[in-house]
Amino acid sequence: MDYHQGDTIVAIATPPGEGGIGILRLSGPQALSIATALCGGSKVKPLMPRHAHFRRFHARDSSSVIDHGIALYFPAPHSYTGETVVELQGHGSPLALASLLTEAIALGARAARAGEFSERAFLNGRLDLAQAEAVADLIHARSDAQARAAAASLEGAFSQAVDGIHGQLLQLLALAEAGLDFSEEDLGDAHEQAIADGLVRLEGQIARLLKQAQQGARLARGGRVVLAGRPNVGKSSLMNALARRESAIVTAIPGTTRDLLREEIVLDGLPVELIDTAGLRVATDAVEAEGIARARNILHSAQLILLVADASTGWQAEDEAILRDLPAGPRRIIWNKLDLVSAPPDTPAGEAAIALSAQTGAGLDALHRSLIEALGVQGDSCPFSARRRHVEALESCLHQLVAARDMHRLGDAPELVAQSLREAAVALASITGRIDVEDILGEIFSRFCIGK
Ligand code: GDP
Repeated sequence: MDYHQGDTIVAIATPPGEGGIGILRLSGPQALSIATALCGGSKVKPLMPRHAHFRRFHARDSSSVIDHGIALYFPAPHSYTGETVVELQGHGSPLALASLLTEAIALGARAARAGEFSERAFLNGRLDLAQAEAVADLIHARSDAQARAAAASLEGAFSQAVDGIHGQLLQLLALAEAGLDFSEEDLGDAHEQAIADGLVRLEGQIARLLKQAQQGARLARGGRVVLAGRPNVGKSSLMNALARRESAIVTAIPGTTRDLLREEIVLDGLPVELIDTAGLRVATDAVEAEGIARARNILHSAQLILLVADASTGWQAEDEAILRDLPAGPRRIIWNKLDLVSAPPDTPAGEAAIALSAQTGAGLDALHRSLIEALGVQGDSCPFSARRRHVEALESCLHQLVAARDMHRLGDAPELVAQSLREAAVALASITGRIDVEDILGEIFSRFCIGK
């Protein structure tokens, strides 16, 4: 960890591009002196804490004005990072902001790494780790439910639940360790019963929190559903029908490729990426071979595959070939064009099918329910956002608690019970970062935006 307390970091905190307002953010011991120099030095009145001052932002030598706007000064420790922070809020001009950034660096600041402001907020105890992660989740939210869940985590909903259980776990550990100190004298049945009861109670609480965290992590990750099927069965019609029915996210998804059609919809609060693998055919040239390779990768990453087939032609050899080629994992056969037939054709044995018409919309309700069930999350009812890291920590905590209960029940050495409880507590504390977690910090904060 190359965290230098002495450093002053600077970044453009607003998104790239033109806009009404552009913010340069400084944090660290030199933040005030650098900002003061940019605001005209000793010739203008000093910035007062938490007051909005109108200022001209100058080049270093005060020779030219780069922009003007509002300067805000937050003395340590009452700032986002816990260090002295100054924000210069000018116009959203990429060139003016770049000049200000250059000037701030020339005056001694260092360009901040992605997430470095939040990392400092964590290191200075302004946010715990789960809250800092929630900042990034809120920024990257693509549905209202995701944003609400992330905001709840940022407010501490998840951390408080974790801390509450952690406190009880430490009490139970103290109880178990009392058994070590008094090993010569028997502390009695009541003592052993209290440990047994505590283990059962904590196990239940962790199991419940784990379920919520799994939901929160699924919500934060979003879903991916891939459509496969031979040409003309109605894959793109089905994508369009789903996008019309569910609220669709219209912003372009980065990395969209020409051979894979993507659409993002929101299913009960959960953003779901729908991908049409039109390229999944026999390669005739190199470009198509590349498309097929991508389609295969995408199929492997899908949480659910919809194999679309044409109800008016029934199951064809080509459908069978595609089915056999699909990777293992949840899938449904979609009998499309139900409007052309009186009843859906026979589905291959062992396969789950849904019959619908992309054209009339009949059967889309059943598909909606099936998608929600397969993706395993009710986005609108997640109490907080979480990540795979949190889920793994809770699983490990639960595993240790179960081990502790088994050992206690079998009358194993109290040292072993206490050791498992200690490990359970460490796993739990890694969620909020109340223990030594240096090795995971780089991993977490590098995925933030610059300036956050
Ligand atoms: P894709 O090649 O699998 O993406 O298939 P398309 O979505 O392009 O559809 C192929 C043809 O089937 C088009 O002429 C669509 O209008 C038609 N089609 C798609 N869905 C339906 C449906 O539910 N009913 C009927 N009658 N025609 C459909």
